[in-house]
Amino acid sequence: MLQITENAQLKEFNSFGVEASARWLCTYNSPDDIRQLIEHFGHLTDKHILIIGGGCNLLFVNNFDGLVIHPTNDYINIVDETDDYCLVKAGAGTEWDSLVAWAVERNLGGLENLSLIPGTVGASPVQNIGAYGREAKDAIESVNVVSLADGSTATLSNAECRFGYRDSVFKHELKDKYLVDSVIYKLQKNPQFVTHYGSLSGEIEKLGGASLRTIRQAVINIRNSKLPDPKVTGNAGSFFKNPVVEQSVAERLKADYPEMVTYPAGPGLVKIAAGWMIDRCGLKGYTNAAKTAGVHTQQALVLVNLGGATGNEIIEVAHHVQNAVAEKFGIRIEPEAIVI
Ligand SMILES: Cc1cc2nc3c(=O)[nH]c(=O)nc-3n(C[C@H](O)[C@H](O)[C@H](O)COP(=O)(O)OP(=O)(O)OC[C@H]3O[C@@H](n4cnc5c(N)ncnc54)[C@H](O)[C@@H]3O)c2cc1C
Repeated sequence: MLQITENAQLKEFNSFGVEASARWLCTYNSPDDIRQLIEHFGHLTDKHILIIGGGCNLLFVNNFDGLVIHPTNDYINIVDETDDYCLVKAGAGTEWDSLVAWAVERNLGGLENLSLIPGTVGASPVQNIGAYGREAKDAIESVNVVSLADGSTATLSNAECRFGYRDSVFKHELKDKYLVDSVIYKLQKNPQFVTHYGSLSGEIEKLGGASLRTIRQAVINIRNSKLPDPKVTGNAGSFFKNPVVEQSVAERLKADYPEMVTYPAGPGLVKIAAGWMIDRCGLKGYTNAAKTAGVHTQQALVLVNLGGATGNEIIEVAHHVQNAVAEKFGIRIEPEAIVI
């Protein structure tokens, strides 16, 4: 039965671990729950709504004066298969890494590079999560959604999701209109491995050569050595996006900083590693005066809650970092994390 909690605490619902509250919080298990919510509140699209999966990409700077919906529909099913692939359906509330582990155990390829990304299946198409040369969009067949306007259900094809770099239609035209109920992934029985990215191939070699299991383990080893565990130190992964600039801007900067880390980003465009710029500003390990929030000591792209930080203290650190980067490089870096 649908349960609605008033004045709910959200500390457990955001990986920064900051204090915040929601006017109402309810869990979601099936489209029926949305229909009941509509009966209770009226059309949800008129309301202030926030869907929270694991809260691993959110920063609360205010209490949320609206309705938080938290999917808990946690299941993984094979819905079809051929000699080449399996279509696997997972509920939005399923923990992302448990889906990756499930797939690797069954020798189904396509998700292994995305091992250990915190959060839920439901957010994977919204964010088009990516790591080590792969993105969720490479494996997503379709996305089942439920309308917040009338509780009706629909299926979006991969093309209709209009995936981009950490981006999808769910962050634009369909923002606040649909809840992702479940996702269908097309997982390969004879997968092509992607091992070229960064230090991945070296780590895989140490584990005895490429297989789904060694790729997963290599990704886990690298991530554990570089990224703070949100259960220990509150964070939301990469806080900033890597800025994409015109080639001419990148070339001008390269003249001053030949070691600048860049990646091709389409015709005439270059992506600059924001972490490299923050590091060059000398901000790795920076903390605010109260020592409650700062920049991670090993990964400059990650902002951390060092203990008891408020959302506003973390955003002040973010502004300090943005200003320093703008002053040194003339480029404004924007948050990847969603600030509420
Ligand atoms: C230590 C760490 C490392 C990370 N590494 C990576 C990485 O390598 N690559 C990467 O891409 N990300 C990374 N992230 C970011 C984060 O894990 C992803 O963005 C993930 O998809 C967030 O999932 P979530 O369930 O916590 O989403 P939330 O933070 O709860 O929500 C994110 C957005 O999706 C929306 N949303 C969530 N669920 C649904 C749903 N069912 N229907 C509709 N909208 C929904 C929310 O409203 C919000 O807009 C990292 C985060 C941390 C803390």
